[in-house]
Amino acid sequence: MVRALDSVDLAILGPTASGKSRLALSLAHRMNAEIVSADSRQIYREISVGTGKLLPEEREGIPHHLLDLCPITEAFSAGDFVREARKAIAGIRARGKRVIVCGGTGLYVESLFSGIVDLPPRPPGQYEEYRQGLEAVPTDALYARLRESDPERATDLHPNDRVRILRALYLREEFSLPSAVLFESFRTQGVECGAIIGLDPGRENRQSLIESRVRAMFANGWIEEVEALLKGGVDPAAPGFNSLGYREVIAFLKGQMTRPALVEAVILKTRQYAKRQMTWFRHMEGIRWVAPGAGKTIPWSFSQIMVRSKKIAADTIDGIREGEPRHMSQGIKRSTPARNAVSVKRSNKERIGIIGGSGLYHLKGLSDLRPTVVETPWGQPSDPYMVGMIGEIPVAFLSRHGAGHRYLPGEINYRANIAGFVALGVRRILSVSAVGSLKESIVPGDMVVVDQFIDWTKGRPSTFYGQGAVGHTGFAHPICPDLAKTLVEACRSVKARHHGKGTYLCMEGPAFSTQAESFLYRQFNADVIGMTNVTEARLAREAGLCYATLALSTDFDCWHPDHDAVTVADVLAVMEKNVSTANRILERALETVGPAGGCKCQEAPKTALVTHPDSIPAATRNKLAFLGILKAEEGGRP
Ligand SMILES: [Zn+2]
Repeated sequence: MVRALDSVDLAILGPTASGKSRLALSLAHRMNAEIVSADSRQIYREISVGTGKLLPEEREGIPHHLLDLCPITEAFSAGDFVREARKAIAGIRARGKRVIVCGGTGLYVESLFSGIVDLPPRPPGQYEEYRQGLEAVPTDALYARLRESDPERATDLHPNDRVRILRALYLREEFSLPSAVLFESFRTQGVECGAIIGLDPGRENRQSLIESRVRAMFANGWIEEVEALLKGGVDPAAPGFNSLGYREVIAFLKGQMTRPALVEAVILKTRQYAKRQMTWFRHMEGIRWVAPGAGKTIPWSFSQIMVRSKKIAADTIDGIREGEPRHMSQGIKRSTPARNAVSVKRSNKERIGIIGGSGLYHLKGLSDLRPTVVETPWGQPSDPYMVGMIGEIPVAFLSRHGAGHRYLPGEINYRANIAGFVALGVRRILSVSAVGSLKESIVPGDMVVVDQFIDWTKGRPSTFYGQGAVGHTGFAHPICPDLAKTLVEACRSVKARHHGKGTYLCMEGPAFSTQAESFLYRQFNADVIGMTNVTEARLAREAGLCYATLALSTDFDCWHPDHDAVTVADVLAVMEKNVSTANRILERALETVGPAGGCKCQEAPKTALVTHPDSIPAATRNKLAFLGILKAEEGGRP
């Protein structure tokens, strides 16, 4: 379908801290879209920390427009926004990409989609001169004058609203037209929008999301940001400082309040702001509301959005276009937001996590599939989780390297991957990986249920601790004995050639080993070699999750005399056979896995922490609380 240059595919709206930016980012990857921000604070170049702006390195290579556009010293109006947004949208369309508008400034979004009154510019200073000329005239006399020349406009205004009365009189006289005619003549058409999604975590979640976001902003240097600007000579009265919370930070820097009072004041202000945002959005038409579950996951897939967007396009967007034109002054018609409770098939069984690696990007037999984007304090996992059922068992599947195999072993955000499982209620993870064999007895095609690791990775983040929290987690037996036993029995049951134990040497990669290294690893008595699993196993243990590895041997590592004779085609052929065997093993393992609790994996975090909780900075404590290692409210006040 050819889209007009001036149209938007999707808008994501919602109150502050509802997870809009992350959802937009994740959908942008899948939609081949660029993002147009509709946020009156993120417009400003010099301020970031207190605005919730994604930093350039957090934008994952997706172009974001209308961020950092305006210097803090200048005012920026809704009209400015519409003009700049239209330019950006036309540019994105010209590049053949889709457009997502994402933001929380209702006035901006409303102006973009409903159109604005865009009057021709008047000579500079003219209005000011007019206003000064009437300085001596009392307001009631001005109002009487307006009632005479433009009665319709006068009824819209309060008799004491001197500013608007003056403005209306000026326009009436300058353009010699009543305001209704004038506004209609210069009203620009709104931009079309395919679908509007509203994210509403619900009042209670909203309160706690706002609190943790505000605290994180202070932990991330909000005060320091403002301090540096003021020291650099920025006027505290600069328009950009009108952004939510900045006035309070300035007051704090002037010694007018204490830090705890500042944090509390900003949390309160932000909550009030979110309430106003919701009021604004509730009056807009055509928004489909989604409640992100528990504030952590967004149970909403691209395909679901597209299905809904067609419906919305049919019953709402067209309705607006065919109906009477909408005027800001007429007020916006109240709509009844349709609340979408996303249905989750309930099961008494606990959800099992599965991580797939090279070759295993999908899982056969997954039904009731729901791609789920999860946000974690460590950033985004490799991919949305495929949440669904295999037979009777609820599962969450994650492709370790991301869709299309995008991440190197050293680039994978292992912490987000493991934390994401925690957010989905997973306590046990089965991991599947292709490995090289270091032993004659492990031939290509064999399965190895690993029981030990040697960690030869270098410098990748592989702990949840740090930043003020020291924890040492027992890791002598890195694999959950219960899950390993289930895997071994499943191998036996489907008659796969397998080895019930083995040591996995985890190298950094991405290049394969040298021959000297390969010989060395054989002297270590390692059985297989891979690049990912020890990091996952360690983080899983730190978070108190059970973890086991099913290693699929695809070839001999380079110690073997036949190594060079092996072709890529051979490896792929083995892999293909391996993957279908692995699928059968997994299915069998899921059928037979018993209830959790026969092992000690979940006890691990209880004895790990060395630092006294009172001494852990709030930001770190909140991160650990995400994993359930600490309670959020434990310890002293931040
Ligand atoms: Zn366990």
